Amino acid sequence: MNAVIGMPKPRIVVVGSLNMDLVLQVRHAPGPGETVLADNLRLVPGGKGGNQAVACARLGAKVHLFGRVGDDAYGLTLRAGLDADGIDHSGVQTDPNVTTGVAAITVDASAQNRIVVVPGANSRFVLDGAVLEPRLRGASGLVLQLEIPMPQVLAAAQLARATGCPVLLNPSPLHPLPDALWQLVDTLIVNEVEAGALADQRVATVAEAAQAARALRAKGPAQVVVTLGAAGAVAADAAGCRHHPGMVVQAVDTTAAGDTFLGALAVGLAQSASLDAALRDGIRAAALCVTQAGAQPSIPSRAAVAQSPQPPDWIAL
Ligand code: AMP
Repeated sequence: MNAVIGMPKPRIVVVGSLNMDLVLQVRHAPGPGETVLADNLRLVPGGKGGNQAVACARLGAKVHLFGRVGDDAYGLTLRAGLDADGIDHSGVQTDPNVTTGVAAITVDASAQNRIVVVPGANSRFVLDGAVLEPRLRGASGLVLQLEIPMPQVLAAAQLARATGCPVLLNPSPLHPLPDALWQLVDTLIVNEVEAGALADQRVATVAEAAQAARALRAKGPAQVVVTLGAAGAVAADAAGCRHHPGMVVQAVDTTAAGDTFLGALAVGLAQSASLDAALRDGIRAAALCVTQAGAQPSIPSRAAVAQSPQPPDWIAL
């Protein structure tokens, strides 16, 4: 990876959700009143906070994760997975009164997903500023998503701003953002659907993505990145807009592509790479991710990315 060679590990703080994904492989998803048999059940660590923490860690950062799990077996399994990736989860709270977040996912023969999420402990995450603040001091980035309560997201962003730590927001799942949050975000990372909804316009082409990125920058974030699936991503900053084409690979499963992209981008920016250099790392890492099945298992290591081909050159818009 261009942005990270020979540099010390930056510290990144992630505040977000942790889920256990129960992935049920079925021939067809059950209709109303119907019972079907699954071919197999896999338990896979997930949740956007957990996925992005794993991505940042595998791609070269020391990661401190803040979130909440239940006092149950899933919570312990999730912590063990975080340990395996060297992630500091001392900021993950244990709630005695509610279950760990769970996503029940059926995947049918045509690879169509149907997902039911039980937010569980994620919805009861309460920021402990006294614990978060020392972690933010000297950290190179705070990564946020929207699977925990919005007031807690806002409080984390406010604390980051007060300590001088840059804020990266991936507003997923999509919710309207409070005005105060727009002002606290340094880098906004959105997919086409999120870009379209937040900018209140259609985003189906590179030109429309650039237009939306400019409109979103006007709301506060200095840097906006719109991801476009196989078509790559568009970046907007003070220097203007660029299109970074995607890499041509044999995609088998795009789950966690966005989280992998964000992890590589966050690590690159944390190491003071330019937005374009960090974004190229994101494109490269995500291209590897889509060639593997699953969420966290498909997030590549920094070493694997360093050995992968370079993405195409970007195009000024
Ligand atoms: P998405 O969240 O689908 O917009 O994807 C995030 C990033 O993953 C994109 O910006 C691409 O860099 C990469 N990506 C997603 N799908 C593919 C694909 N089919 N082929 C290559 N790269 C992909």
